[in-house]
Amino acid sequence: MLRLLKFSLGVLVAVLLVTFFTLYFMFGMNIYEPPEAESSLFVRGGQLFRGVDARVENNPGMLIVDGRIICLGNLCEPRPDSRVIDATGLSIVPGLIELHGHFAAITADNADLNLTRLAWNMVRMRPDVRRRLHESGVTSFRSVGDPRDFIRELKAYLEGGELSGPRLFAAGPIFTAPGGHPTREGRDPNPSGFGGNMAFQSDDPEAIRAEVALLAEQGGDGIKAVFHGAASESGTTLLPTLSEESLRTLVDEAHAHDMWVAVHVGPLDETKTAIRAGADTIEHGVRAGNLVDAETLRLLVDNEVVYVPTLGREPMGYLNIPALYEAGVTIGVGTDTNNPAMRYGDSYHQELQALVNAGMPDVEVLLAATRNGAKALGMEDTLGTLEAGHLADLLLVQGAPWNDIAELRNIRMVIQNGLVVMDRE
Ligand SMILES: [Zn+2]
Repeated sequence: MLRLLKFSLGVLVAVLLVTFFTLYFMFGMNIYEPPEAESSLFVRGGQLFRGVDARVENNPGMLIVDGRIICLGNLCEPRPDSRVIDATGLSIVPGLIELHGHFAAITADNADLNLTRLAWNMVRMRPDVRRRLHESGVTSFRSVGDPRDFIRELKAYLEGGELSGPRLFAAGPIFTAPGGHPTREGRDPNPSGFGGNMAFQSDDPEAIRAEVALLAEQGGDGIKAVFHGAASESGTTLLPTLSEESLRTLVDEAHAHDMWVAVHVGPLDETKTAIRAGADTIEHGVRAGNLVDAETLRLLVDNEVVYVPTLGREPMGYLNIPALYEAGVTIGVGTDTNNPAMRYGDSYHQELQALVNAGMPDVEVLLAATRNGAKALGMEDTLGTLEAGHLADLLLVQGAPWNDIAELRNIRMVIQNGLVVMDRE
């Protein structure tokens, strides 16, 4: 009996080894690791867009040490160990912030991969996605719904410097009522279960409070909730949604742990309730045939909510943009890249163009992608703008994206946390 067991174990180990080496030689082991650390960078020349307001100036000189801008002005000098980067002829803008991301989604990037290759890709924590985001200038990524263990593990690898990729701000699973969006008749939206559940289904305020506290303890940055009954055109509620009490409890507990709360909404009344309950960001915006009204605009402004319209997923949302912009609502950029018709990175630049087409000036869209993104993350004191003391996340681009947002695609170099993570020269 024992001999048989030993034999089976041996066979199992052999099969695993053969599988590993087959995958390794078929698809490679490139996991997209960070570049060699540099203690200091000095960026000279070029046009500087700090991202505080619409102003553009000649770059007076920027010294970066240990991941931060420590000097930005005429008196700044390179240190003897600084690598000098010449930005003459280029524009310097803050790194881009994706506010509505799903890291583990099936998209055009991977929809054509066969199952083995897809699994291998996931096991390596999606090097394709991390690389593509960097190439598109995305240096911060807010995950608003991903398999809970997968995303926490990825964040640890990124923060530990073992893997390269944008700064990750993660919500973990999506809070929704039992059977609510995005479950499939009560089944978790992560069908394989690989990396953990993607939804937390409960409408019990105390269970919700406990789960938020657990995620906070595990290092989560925020909470994503669905407060949308997906009503039909005649007004019938098609899917269960959280009670107002559940939503208020969720917000209360999240804020007690200094976490942001992103709320997916739809109809107008639910949107107003979500803002009154304390949502920090409104995801997708008012839709389902509704338009924002004066009361919603006032609520958004008074409560300093960041509105993330995800026009790539909700094209009709463009109708609300002029009213939001005129009213002074803070608009953020999120793509919801989450289906085989979309591609990571590309979808971000499409979203920027869609906001311009909807009526926002190019420079305001650039501010939405940077300064406003940091505000949504509660990081406006260190991220999203280029100032002394801030984190060194910046792009060198060819052209003047504040005049034409399409020129933001011409990225020559991406610096994140003081590291040159992408260099096209
Ligand atoms: Zn989404």
